[in-house]
Amino acid sequence: MADPSVEVLFAAPGNPGIGTVAVLRDVVPTDPTEVAALAVECGADLVVVGPEAPLVAGVADVVRAKGIPAFGPSAEAARLEGSKAFAKDVMAAAGVPTARAYTCSDAESVGRALDDFGAPYVVKDDCLAAGKGVVVTEDRAVAEQHAQGCGQVVIEEYLAGPEVSLFVVTDGEAAVPLLPAQDFKRVGDGDSGPNTGGMGAYAPLPWAPPGLVDEVMRDIVHPTLAELRRRGTPFAGLLYVGLAITARGPRVIEFNARFGDPETQVVLALLETPLAGLLHAAATGELAAHPPLRWRDGAAVTVVVAAQGYPAKPRTGDVILGAERPGVVQAGTVRRAADGALLSAGGRVLCGTATGADLAAARDAAYTLVRGIELADSHHRSDIAAAAVDGRIDIPR
Ligand code: AMP
Repeated sequence: MADPSVEVLFAAPGNPGIGTVAVLRDVVPTDPTEVAALAVECGADLVVVGPEAPLVAGVADVVRAKGIPAFGPSAEAARLEGSKAFAKDVMAAAGVPTARAYTCSDAESVGRALDDFGAPYVVKDDCLAAGKGVVVTEDRAVAEQHAQGCGQVVIEEYLAGPEVSLFVVTDGEAAVPLLPAQDFKRVGDGDSGPNTGGMGAYAPLPWAPPGLVDEVMRDIVHPTLAELRRRGTPFAGLLYVGLAITARGPRVIEFNARFGDPETQVVLALLETPLAGLLHAAATGELAAHPPLRWRDGAAVTVVVAAQGYPAKPRTGDVILGAERPGVVQAGTVRRAADGALLSAGGRVLCGTATGADLAAARDAAYTLVRGIELADSHHRSDIAAAAVDGRIDIPR
């Protein structure tokens, strides 16, 4: 294990990839009682609550109630991700720059909101959708249809400009930004096709305006954390700020309450500071005393390999070869009991992450890694980080 402070790691439920470094325990991750019981049983010093569903289910709260430090916000604070309408309300109260928006629950208000903003239309399901409940379209009928299929929706102004993901580790008050990254949401090259959970990422961002991270911390992160403290629901954990860099400066597209996949792979590939100590400091309210982060020089790129049919209807059960090499991180995989073969078990099956002296070198290395993966009829984007390498990313003026 890379982090010397970690004696033993348990993953619940985990997958065969993390199973090479962690003890896998088959608990239901959204069941706070089961997770807390496991933490007590193994004498955990720190519980990291990864995905959004367990956070919204209150897993971090129940673990903390047992006296065990948990990295992850309370169920209340996780609503920053769980409800788009709640996030908009917090941002408005905190004066945080974001897209103008309406929350709508009937066809008439949907129509009015679409009229107001015009195309391209942005329609977001107001409930957890793992980044997939959002439709951005020029086609009014498609926008209306998506709104009809949801209960409450948030309809908002389209933000033009390159996107940035910024992860911020916080104990509710002190906040430490990680390196900004960019991910690729659409399934196809040239940002074509439907949105996905993310098809690739790179960090750092050679095109980012100087001072971007300081500006985001000052104008977005600290006001948001202060507003949540004021409401009596401080946010401790990972605040993921999804931004568009518009002509008027950075604007929040969304908040998430956890590390985002696949940006995490590139950001952590460059982080030299041991992760466990950082997360423990955040979980115990001691982040202000944590030493400054150290980063590797160079850049990192990750490319996601997705199953045939992803995102609409991924095919599962195909044999995967070549996943054992360093830099390959598994997502939707299982081991076949009969012979131990590695099989696909989800839409995004795995990704290949590589670092390099610069972005071009990291990109070449990541694609070399991915070309060594065998998975029948799988697909991946061929243009991850390409525009950044070629200097083709422009911030609108
Ligand atoms: P979200 O789940 O809110 O991150 O939305 C998923 C993706 O939809 C984002 O990463 C953006 O690519 C796109 N998107 C969401 N909101 C907007 C917006 N207001 N303007 C432009 N694109 C957006």
